[in-house]
Amino acid sequence: MVSRPPNAILLNSIPLFLVVWLLPASAPLASAASWTVHTQPARLVNGAPVLFQAKPPQRLASLSGSWLGHEISFSFDAKSKTWFGLAGVSLETEPGTYALELSGEPIAGKSPGTKISFSRKFAVARGKYPKIKVALSVEGKFTEPNPEQQKQIEAGQQIKKDYLNRVTPDREWSGSFSAPAAAGISDVFGSERIFNGKTSSPHLGLDFRVPSGTPVAAMNDGTVLLARPLYFEGNFVVIDHGQGLLTLYLHLSEFKVKEGEQVKRGQIIGLSGGTGRATGPHLHVAVRWQGTYLDPAALIRLELP
Ligand SMILES: [Zn+2]
Repeated sequence: MVSRPPNAILLNSIPLFLVVWLLPASAPLASAASWTVHTQPARLVNGAPVLFQAKPPQRLASLSGSWLGHEISFSFDAKSKTWFGLAGVSLETEPGTYALELSGEPIAGKSPGTKISFSRKFAVARGKYPKIKVALSVEGKFTEPNPEQQKQIEAGQQIKKDYLNRVTPDREWSGSFSAPAAAGISDVFGSERIFNGKTSSPHLGLDFRVPSGTPVAAMNDGTVLLARPLYFEGNFVVIDHGQGLLTLYLHLSEFKVKEGEQVKRGQIIGLSGGTGRATGPHLHVAVRWQGTYLDPAALIRLELP
């Protein structure tokens, strides 16, 4: 929201010539106000996705943005006449205010070659994530790997480095993301756990309480980027939804898709299991946006065009 100019309050109590003198100062505010930019959800927190919705002051051919060092591609929703772009705030982002910069290209004919821009700071609050003081026991091979296991771990790390930071330009997702399974949640995103007495890094996914063999559904349309076993992840499926947004499905007992295959939201991509580093059968799903993990539950809550 554009803040009200402080002089507006005084207008009734000052002579007319002063009002005329004060008016030009508020002119830049008027042009900034002709953009309408909203976020969903209204309150931004670290670790959560955010949908930016923008109504520019004139018709545009394209709109792009930058936010927390990331590029955001915007699409036009003809129904609401609104441009929308999906982005996120990394878990490591400190509370504060951060600028969204938008740059729009007007449609041909209307002031060609001149871009219109918008900039506004949005507040990011600290998300509330639980600390779980439970000592989970995992097999020794995961905490003290032998040289052969170490090789497998490094191979997995290389594959993730090669694939998980990719940004394919075209958006494949459309509409809201759906839950990959109809089941209860056994662990939320961002919780801090203790493995064999040692505090591990925060939980970067969402765990569904499902027995082995439960069908696992694609959360939205996309292309299968990975469908292969890795050391920690077990049987691992990654779907690329475009624009740097990926969903990850871990510990599967069975694959139902192949790499390169296009999938639709709700399509069964595998069966749940307990492969890789898992204390038992469950489904761990993760959401990655341009190299950072976001809360899958918060993504599912967004109402997307
Ligand atoms: Zn998990």
